[in-house]
Order: sequence, then C-alpha cells, then structure tokens
Amino acid sequence: MSEYICPNCKKPIYDPDALLCHFCGGSLGRAGKGFISRVRYANQKVVWFFLVFVVLLAFVLLFVR
Ligand SMILES: [Zn+2]
Repeated sequence: MSEYICPNCKKPIYDPDALLCHFCGGSLGRAGKGFISRVRYANQKVVWFFLVFVVLLAFVLLFVR
C-alpha cells in the first residue's frame, strides 16, 4: 500500500486505515478527503441530470411553439 506522510511531523504512516498520526497524534485529514470526493461525485451526477433536464425542457418548448 502507499504510505502517507503526516502533515504535522512529516513521518510516513503505513497504516491505510489510520486517521491519526502514530508519532504526534495529529489528524491526517483523510476523512475530509473521502467526504469531499464523495460530494464532488454526487454533484457531478446532479449536474448531468440538470443538463439532461434542460435539454428535454428546450425540446418540449420547441415542440409546443
Ligand atoms: Zn505526525
């Protein structure tokens, strides 16, 4: 697995599930990263859904007129 460098003491963390540094006890900030990437993915889906909805709405308006 890939090692992670602690942002506080710059020591490598080899535990992939560790949320706190083994040396200084500082937060590694992993939970936030995962959450942000999940939100970004959800936003992407919402954007695509919105685009499809707008295109369909435009077609409906064209046919109505
Ligand atoms: Zn540390």
